[in-house]
Amino acid sequence: MDDRLMNGSFMTEDSSVEQTLRPKTLREYVGQQAIKDSLGIYIQAALSRHDALDHMLLYGPPGLGKTTLACIVASEMGQSIRVTSGPAIERPGDLASILSNLNAGDVLFIDEIHRLSRQVEEVLYPAMEDYAIDIMIGKGPTARSIRVDLPKFTLVGATTRAGQLSAPLRDRFGMLFRLEMYTPAELAGIIERSAGILGVDAEPDGILEIARRSRGTPRIANRMLKRVRDYAQVRGGGQITRAVAREALEMLDVDELGLDRVDRNVLGCMMDKFGGGPVGLDTLAATTGEDAVTIEDVYEPYLMQLGFIMRTPRGRVCTPAAWQHMNKQMPSSGTADTQLRMDI
Ligand code: ADP
Repeated sequence: MDDRLMNGSFMTEDSSVEQTLRPKTLREYVGQQAIKDSLGIYIQAALSRHDALDHMLLYGPPGLGKTTLACIVASEMGQSIRVTSGPAIERPGDLASILSNLNAGDVLFIDEIHRLSRQVEEVLYPAMEDYAIDIMIGKGPTARSIRVDLPKFTLVGATTRAGQLSAPLRDRFGMLFRLEMYTPAELAGIIERSAGILGVDAEPDGILEIARRSRGTPRIANRMLKRVRDYAQVRGGGQITRAVAREALEMLDVDELGLDRVDRNVLGCMMDKFGGGPVGLDTLAATTGEDAVTIEDVYEPYLMQLGFIMRTPRGRVCTPAAWQHMNKQMPSSGTADTQLRMDI
């Protein structure tokens, strides 16, 4: 399958379409009910106090709607949003300048917040806690630091790996929300909405077929919709039916569960070269030729959600369900870990 469907590295036509497909209000935001319920209350409370919302951390795999949620928070609060990311803020001065340009109530969204350097993080602590930054004036023995007050703002941090966030940073967020993968029914709702916006003619069965293969991820659902639309336009008389969706997704090498070439390569490698595991992440990355971070952030969450891979203290292990899906015979020995875990 086209890798770009998964990793989001191509951002030309698709990034502008992604903008138009972004829900603008909490009501339009499909799924994540528990988060929406809590946020709705906190937003209403902050609005009635004429106060800024507390800082919040959103975590979960890519494409689940973290950026979208941050934009919705800003618009529901009637405020502007400033979007940046951990790797883009190289020096403490960069962050100080972003912070000092914020207006009262603004939302500052920092994507991949776990990638901020320690020095930059240290600027963030007083900013989050006391709405102030300490700026060094001068150099050497005459250097002194002065405290500059900031307007009250809301920091929304997003990360795919909450575990990599330093404890002092994590503790400064008043709200922590973990985004869950979406059910096929929720994804069908998202695809239906997107099809409406894009003016695509799609039957409910066709929509559900795409939803089932979207790995629980709205970004993938929207991308697949666009590729299936192209296929329908050229081969299917313009309408997305179940049969058209199936043919288009097969052409993209996406199987009935939404697994693509890379997923199958990862599972196949684990089975053929390591008897189903346990195998360490770095070894797996080296053998499959994929990046370890990509395996961990993009591929593994869905394979774990399907119950195809388990993490054990000795490494990753394929479960019997994975062997079955890959149509391979599970060895009777060599997967003791799986057996042990299954028994527990
Ligand atoms: P993340 O920041 O977690 O990587 P995004 O917020 O960029 O993900 O979401 C990717 C795309 O998926 C968005 O363009 C949006 O159209 C769609 N999307 C995400 N979550 C939802 C949702 N809950 N309802 C509808 N569309 C969604």
